[in-house]
Amino acid sequence: MRQSIRIGRFAGVDVGVNWSVLVIFALITWQLADYVLPGTYGAGSRAAYWLAAVVAALVFFFSLLAHEVSHAVVARHNGVGVRSITLWLFGGVAQLEGEAASPGAEFRIAAVGPGTSLALAAVFGVGEVLAHAAGSHGLVAQVLTWLWQVNLLLAAFNLIPAAPLDGGRILRSGLWRAWHDPTRAAVAAARAGRAFGAVLIVVGVVEFGFGGALGLWPALLGWFLYAAAGSEERNARLRSSIAQLAAWQVMTPNPPTVPAHARVADMAHSALRHYGGEAVVVTDERGWLAGVLRTDAMRAVPADRLGSTMVSDIAVPLDQVPVVRTGDPVRVVLERMARAGGTPALVLDAENRLAGIVTQSNVVRTAMMGDLQRRFGQFARR
Ligand SMILES: [Zn+2]
Repeated sequence: MRQSIRIGRFAGVDVGVNWSVLVIFALITWQLADYVLPGTYGAGSRAAYWLAAVVAALVFFFSLLAHEVSHAVVARHNGVGVRSITLWLFGGVAQLEGEAASPGAEFRIAAVGPGTSLALAAVFGVGEVLAHAAGSHGLVAQVLTWLWQVNLLLAAFNLIPAAPLDGGRILRSGLWRAWHDPTRAAVAAARAGRAFGAVLIVVGVVEFGFGGALGLWPALLGWFLYAAAGSEERNARLRSSIAQLAAWQVMTPNPPTVPAHARVADMAHSALRHYGGEAVVVTDERGWLAGVLRTDAMRAVPADRLGSTMVSDIAVPLDQVPVVRTGDPVRVVLERMARAGGTPALVLDAENRLAGIVTQSNVVRTAMMGDLQRRFGQFARR
């Protein structure tokens, strides 16, 4: 979903559209113009059907967007940052930067989406009633009918209690409240998601086997849900295994430092050439902390500008770098890094001395080692 076209900002969140949306937009418009509208309202011209279909499809995409923006707004009200919203093949995804802090917050963030779709269905339903009352039995009323139906369907589908659907998150919030164990609740909701995905795959394949080409659709959707639920379960387990760690347990101790006033060209020929880490620490003339230089930013400098680019030109300045303590929980470190757009965090000890640096790969590596040890432990016990 990375290859998306940015279309703007809504409620302070970047909104992108994946190319797959164009395919769906074309399919919906075609289906409306060629089947749905002529089938329910047989007295229009071809041009009128197509125009109405395009308008209906556009309003539908704004409905999808409203659903995702509502998740984003409520997430933010509950202290969870939002990276972006992307519309794609199966609707929308609001990418959150952290976890809800409580079952109540989880419930609110999840429930507002289907709630918004239900509210939109009600608005379009009332619109249809008004259109009929005004004596319109034409295309406008037909489009409104389709819009309330499709929003109702969207709300209903999303309420199915299977992660990563909204209903799965609502289920998780309930189990979390009952069991007081967010990880166990997430795993249960993710398993429900896998089961639902598997059912959709079977239904789709059977339908396809009986000659229904549309069976490919539920099968594809089921496959996506099955895979997404599997990765949710893995993530929940990884998160819980690293949640118990502190910053000093995942950091790279004594990271290399580079002076802010050095030229990038000189860095490329120094010992840094063989440094495999993601980031180094930048110091000023007095040797004090001045920021963080990501090695990918260094590699991104064009060869002909290596000589004229200073470290300070491409480094992240200190006021934008997350700074944590050796004893801070990894959960806090990750939240700060996410809020700083993935910038590595500097770790200070009790005497305010630099102890190390934490990058996203540090955390992933540590979590994976823990996962591996657990698996190996299970294996060894057999
Ligand atoms: Zn949703």
